[in-house]
Amino acid sequence: MHCPGRADTWKAAVWISARFPHAGISVIPRPLFPSTRDLPPTLIRRLADGILNLVFPESCLVCAAPVSRQRDRGICRDCWQKALRLRITGALCPSCGIPYQSFEEENAHLCGKCILNLPLYSGARAFGYYSAELSRIVRAFKFDGRRDLAPLIASLLLSAFLEFWLPQDIDLIVPVPLHSKRKKERGYNQAALLGRSLARLLGKSCGERVLARVRSTLPQVGLSDADRVRNVQAAFTCTRPAQVRAHRVLLLDDVMTTGSTVASATEALLDAGAARVCVLTVARAVAGWE
Ligand SMILES: [Zn+2]
Ligand SMILES: [Zn+2]
Repeated sequence: MHCPGRADTWKAAVWISARFPHAGISVIPRPLFPSTRDLPPTLIRRLADGILNLVFPESCLVCAAPVSRQRDRGICRDCWQKALRLRITGALCPSCGIPYQSFEEENAHLCGKCILNLPLYSGARAFGYYSAELSRIVRAFKFDGRRDLAPLIASLLLSAFLEFWLPQDIDLIVPVPLHSKRKKERGYNQAALLGRSLARLLGKSCGERVLARVRSTLPQVGLSDADRVRNVQAAFTCTRPAQVRAHRVLLLDDVMTTGSTVASATEALLDAGAARVCVLTVARAVAGWE
């Protein structure tokens, strides 16, 4: 895996800002507050916003403070800033990306879990800790039908991506699929929405139908580590191997907990001939941060 330093990240940010001026990327990639992504508010837009808020008062999906759904996408500035502060920084395992508690630890060594059983993916990274404000935002996006949050959450993914890779390090983005039954219940696959948004920002294609979930699995929440592995074993199949053969894939999901879901999806991609699979998630569940 190519892990660029700050200079490479800066170069990538310049490249992105030149190519995609609307991506909201300045010299150092930093996710923007939702309202700054929109057009500058005109008097008419402000008035319309005010009237809509009077008729349909909206509260922040994290702290219930009054907000404007149109302007702020339902998240107050305070909660957004707090979510950004949950970013994972410092030393982490180069394979699974678990952050080390001590800042003195070096990036160069694997964590105990990866030493015992090295994952097949070439590195997993996440934007932030699955906790507090960030977990509330992700849950609203996933379970409360807030699919309009996709571009905002994708800006977090872009920022994390540019911290560790360059756009030329990957060929294809593949979102972790939902089983058709669950997709029907929810109405959308949250990882696919993020995949589309991130693919647009990076100028890559998103292989939404490259993987299929062939087994309906139990929700991973509440299962032991061993049960999680068993639950998702052989759960995925690559339905379009020609699209992944010899390609460097970025596998995308919303949350990584033990890593068994992304490990199983990675296996299916590598079996289909992918040259390499890296994993990116919005959040990472880390013990002690729930
Ligand atoms: Zn709030
Ligand atoms: Zn590890």
